[in-house]
Amino acid sequence: MKIAIVGKGLAGLGAAFYLSQKHHSITIYYDEEGASAAASGLMHGFVGESGLKSPNADLCFEEVVRLWENLGGEFFEKTSFIKECLTDEVKQNLLKYEEVEPISDTRVKITKACKVDVAHYLQKLESFLKRNGVQFIPKK
Ligand SMILES: Cc1cc2nc3c(=O)[nH]c(=O)nc-3n(C[C@H](O)[C@H](O)[C@H](O)COP(=O)(O)OP(=O)(O)OC[C@H]3O[C@@H](n4cnc5c(N)ncnc54)[C@H](O)[C@@H]3O)c2cc1C
Repeated sequence: MKIAIVGKGLAGLGAAFYLSQKHHSITIYYDEEGASAAASGLMHGFVGESGLKSPNADLCFEEVVRLWENLGGEFFEKTSFIKECLTDEVKQNLLKYEEVEPISDTRVKITKACKVDVAHYLQKLESFLKRNGVQFIPKK
């Protein structure tokens, strides 16, 4: 199947990687840098302020780590970080998960996270995709 992808940020390049594994013919049309160029590079399963993990967060986490390791992996490291909880409900939600430890009344430690150099990762992924036949076409 011929597939066109718009944008070469985290989403575009990630989609291209998985689609290229299924032997599709992929062309990426790209413009200037987007949000991915600004990303701080902290990855974990808890999106938003509810303290609840997003659906499939563990699956996605493990899949992305596998992708990073396949690319060489020198641009990321496993880490942990301290999260401030805005309410007790948020804290109680977080503490339901095994990777969350209480630190104080308002803070918890999240032990399953990664710190990634986003620019380095995207550069490596783009090179990998080019070597594997993905076409990159700049917006006119
Ligand atoms: C300051 C900041 C810090 C962040 N920190 C984190 C973090 O620590 N952890 C985390 O998980 N997330 C973080 N994020 C969020 C994360 O950066 C975004 O969720 C992610 O980069 C979105 O990727 P994307 O590929 O969807 O979008 P983008 O990276 O914006 O890519 C979309 C691309 O499409 C291109 N495009 C649009 N229209 C066209 C067109 N018509 N033709 C060609 N190209 C086009 C744009 O130029 C752009 O390059 C942060 C975001 C910001 C702004």
